[in-house]
Amino acid sequence: MHKRILIKLSGEALAGDGGKGFNHKIVIEVAQQLKQLVEENIQVSVVIGGGNFWRGRSSSDMDRTKADQIGMLATVMNAIYVANVCRSEGIGTVVQTPFVVGTMTELFSKDKALEHLAQNKVVFFAGGTGHPFFSTDTGAVLRAAEIEVDALFFAKNIDGIYDSDPKLNKNAIRHDRISFKEIIAQNLKAMDLTAATLCNEQKLQIIVFSLEPYNAILKAVHGEIAGTTIYPD
Ligand code: UDP
Repeated sequence: MHKRILIKLSGEALAGDGGKGFNHKIVIEVAQQLKQLVEENIQVSVVIGGGNFWRGRSSSDMDRTKADQIGMLATVMNAIYVANVCRSEGIGTVVQTPFVVGTMTELFSKDKALEHLAQNKVVFFAGGTGHPFFSTDTGAVLRAAEIEVDALFFAKNIDGIYDSDPKLNKNAIRHDRISFKEIIAQNLKAMDLTAATLCNEQKLQIIVFSLEPYNAILKAVHGEIAGTTIYPD
């Protein structure tokens, strides 16, 4: 049984058709699952990507720093939205950011985050690391290490890490387990390599799974879903 976890939701997994915006039904299902985890006395923190709005690295015709700033703000919008849906479902929430967003969010603080978690609130860490050239994968691992989670989950729109892109190769094979070192050595695009390096150094394990199956988050946290376990070595 986990005590404190961090769940990273990719922006795309929450998106509507065409990978943009939100699918409200999916977000409500996510909120209901987070509520159940809180009721199981698990301290739950969440990081949400921004790919359903904006990706800095895809905006090659503009200044990367500015493009990434827009990406970070996209993750703040996502967190405010999902946190609000969680409140509608009856869960206490807080959105923390590494930069000031006026009165809309709280500035990141480990101590405050731990206080909120102890009060059964779900804490959303938005805005990534607060710096360009990083991703929310890295932001998620950073916060997971800082608040000392005992488990880290990455919910995506694909059910794990494959040896090649399953959209391009129908014979692609999903890894049940793979080490961070193998991901780095094989330059697998499934996760950001900076995040993989940090996770390996911090001896954190990640469970990668698809958000799509019914109650996928609950099944992942309870160890009942097929996905990929990425382990440090
Ligand atoms: N981003 C950033 N620094 C961070 C985290 C995110 O600059 O620490 C920006 C970057 O432009 C990225 C965008 O925010 O493309 C959205 O995050 P990400 O691509 O990780 O979202 P996902 O692909 O998981 O939906």
